[in-house]
Amino acid sequence: MKSSILHSNNGYFGKYGGMFLPELLIAPMTELAKSLKIAESKSFQKIFRNLLKEYAGRPTPLTEVKRFAQAANAPRVFLKREDLLHTGSHKINNALGQCLLAKELGKKRIIAETGAGQHGVATATICAYLGLDCVVYMGACDIKRQEPNVRKMKMLGAEVRSVNAGSMTLKEAVNEALRDYAESYENTHYCLGSALGPHPYPQMVALFQKVIGEETRKQSIKYLGRLPDKVVACVGGGSNAIGIFSGFLEDDVNLIGVEAGGRGAMLGDHAARFSGGSPGVLHGTYSYILQDDSGQIADTHSISAGMDYPSVSPIHALLHDTKKATYTSVNDQEALAAFKLLSKTEGIIPALESSHALAWVMREGKHFQKNEIIIICLSGRGEKDLNRDDL
Ligand SMILES: *Cc1c(COP(=O)(O)O)cnc(C)c1O
Repeated sequence: MKSSILHSNNGYFGKYGGMFLPELLIAPMTELAKSLKIAESKSFQKIFRNLLKEYAGRPTPLTEVKRFAQAANAPRVFLKREDLLHTGSHKINNALGQCLLAKELGKKRIIAETGAGQHGVATATICAYLGLDCVVYMGACDIKRQEPNVRKMKMLGAEVRSVNAGSMTLKEAVNEALRDYAESYENTHYCLGSALGPHPYPQMVALFQKVIGEETRKQSIKYLGRLPDKVVACVGGGSNAIGIFSGFLEDDVNLIGVEAGGRGAMLGDHAARFSGGSPGVLHGTYSYILQDDSGQIADTHSISAGMDYPSVSPIHALLHDTKKATYTSVNDQEALAAFKLLSKTEGIIPALESSHALAWVMREGKHFQKNEIIIICLSGRGEKDLNRDDL
């Protein structure tokens, strides 16, 4: 079966994944895992795929960026345009899938965590569309950094709850959402934003994002007459990357995941879990995490809020160990340069997250063969990132 690696073995991808949770959460999470069957069913997929088309704007195009490629000294470069989706990123694929599933399960209330606000906005959007109550947990620090997205969520009818613990960012927002869920799961679904967290989330989110890879593979064959040589994606939690990679897991295609190298290689200065981390548990899943010598979760830094998280999808952990994909990182400055270059050469303002994938091609493109085809997942648009002094 194609992309069977996306199917966990009882919640495990190799030795990664699992459901490391307080007793209280095991029963509701086990219940949710059973709903994977519904999510995978033909009838559910038909409704889901139809709304991806009619509401979210799929399929997204594959765009060749010749002027960018020339400036980067790279061969042929194409972008998978997730930035053109409703609400501006691939997050809407997952939010739509999970909220539809929640409705099917009879849940009337949705909670979500958000960092930059993209997942919060996508979830608030779908809740408005489906008539569900929506509460979004967001770190107080991120609320300040991402003010326009907070306004959007409120306009869409969601309640945004400020989280004041710890570093007041994404990690604490996840804690708070899990706490809420432990008390509310009978009428509430926790819509988690990436291929992370306890089983069944990694498998579920990958299921809802794999449409990116399916489309990309078809488009590549139809318009270019062959598969690409390389597929590149940024890796925050890992959902856009697993989405596009999943189309090519059985092929001889180089899959490259780009993490946030931040401002340096010291612990605390980046979010490069594969080069700077080691296996451990955070938020219910066993994967590569950034931790200090005593196993304390380390602080992270990235120029882009969507990449700024100390753990990574257990699916990527397996792809990393089996060498099915390779993982690398670019730093803040490289990402910023890519952000500017794509804007000026192509008229496309990329999200700072996606700019990490672009930056890797700018750095490495000169080493590629002349006739190579590179596809980059442009996970989102960059309007949200324009409010910076260094642009
Ligand atoms: C959230 C976000 C990311 C990072 O999340 P993944 O789960 O790694 O995809 C990347 N790009 C954009 C535009 C995002 O909003």
